[in-house]
Amino acid sequence: MAYLRKNMAIDLGTTSVLCFTRSQGVVLNEPSVVAFDSFSNEIVAVGAEAKRMLGKTPGNIIARRPLKDGVIADYPSTAKMLDYFIHKAMGRSLLSPDVVICVPSEATQVQKRAVVQAAKAAGVHSVYLIEEALAAAIGSGVDISEPGGHMIVDIGGGTTDIAVISLGGIVVSRSIRVAGNAFDQAILRYIRDHYNLIIGDSSAEELKIQLGSGASDGMEETMEVKGRSLDDGLPKSIYISSTEMAEALRPSLMTIVDAVHDLLSNTPPELAADLYDRGILLTGGGSLIKGLDRLLHDRISIDIHHPDHALTAVVRGTGSSLNWLKKWNPSDELFSESTRQQIIQREELRRR
Ligand code: ADP
Ligand code: MG
Repeated sequence: MAYLRKNMAIDLGTTSVLCFTRSQGVVLNEPSVVAFDSFSNEIVAVGAEAKRMLGKTPGNIIARRPLKDGVIADYPSTAKMLDYFIHKAMGRSLLSPDVVICVPSEATQVQKRAVVQAAKAAGVHSVYLIEEALAAAIGSGVDISEPGGHMIVDIGGGTTDIAVISLGGIVVSRSIRVAGNAFDQAILRYIRDHYNLIIGDSSAEELKIQLGSGASDGMEETMEVKGRSLDDGLPKSIYISSTEMAEALRPSLMTIVDAVHDLLSNTPPELAADLYDRGILLTGGGSLIKGLDRLLHDRISIDIHHPDHALTAVVRGTGSSLNWLKKWNPSDELFSESTRQQIIQREELRRR
């Protein structure tokens, strides 16, 4: 009977939720936003439809993001959002599915438990967790059972998570609250300070995606942006250049570069030597900023690699761990401990 049960991998991100099945690949990729009617407390929209309502809703409709900095901030909304996405991704089925969900390496036991409970409340049969850095590595094609070290830098919406992994486990890690959203805010502040113009969050994000860069590559581009002038309160449009965007983003990007540098200096020397040979892997939406790899390379002199699918590497890796699903002890909800043991045993057998 158990084999009839469907299973699915979920990347429950601050910005977006992705669902993956082995047979179909990425089956859902939607913003993690929920819109409510504040009178009846009923959900009016979830995902892409709810995102369109952010900042534009009439008085009684509230649109918000139930996750903050990679962890659940609003538990009931997260449970409802998961319920909606899981059923949208797999359709109604007689048997409730098993799911594996990735969590930030730095999440506390309480935060991990909240993810398990939200999934159970969404009607899931068994929930398994995997650490995001491991998932990102697997999804980028790294063999995590190897004893050598790898560094993963995942730049999402709320946080940048940096981790060094070896033998299927996390050796050192660090999370900072500077990532995609902080880039948007830096752009917003830059335009307010230099042009006395207030622009919306989505305009700032668009500028970042179109013009943002870590270092100028000599190709100057410009883009029109509209907002409200602080001088007279009226709508106004201006042209912004890529050089200005590089200037606006530089402090945030340097904070990330410094954090990577710090973690490298806290990495055991044997593993650090591996990192010099293998380079660093950049994943997450925020890693798509042009020239960020060059900025990092200039500071730490290590090669930087981008997987083919920076935005879906984590969910793909989470999906690959579905292969181990049957081997896990159902009472052991955290992937890494049991899997780490298995990987080490396998590695020992191989060496004999
Ligand atoms: P999370 O794991 O937090 O859900 P993601 O890995 O999906 O986050 O990344 C979301 C962030 O990536 C957002 O801040 C978004 O603006 C940013 N982003 C997405 N595409 C690009 C791009 N091409 N260039 C720069 N930033 C991007
Ligand atoms: Mg993510």
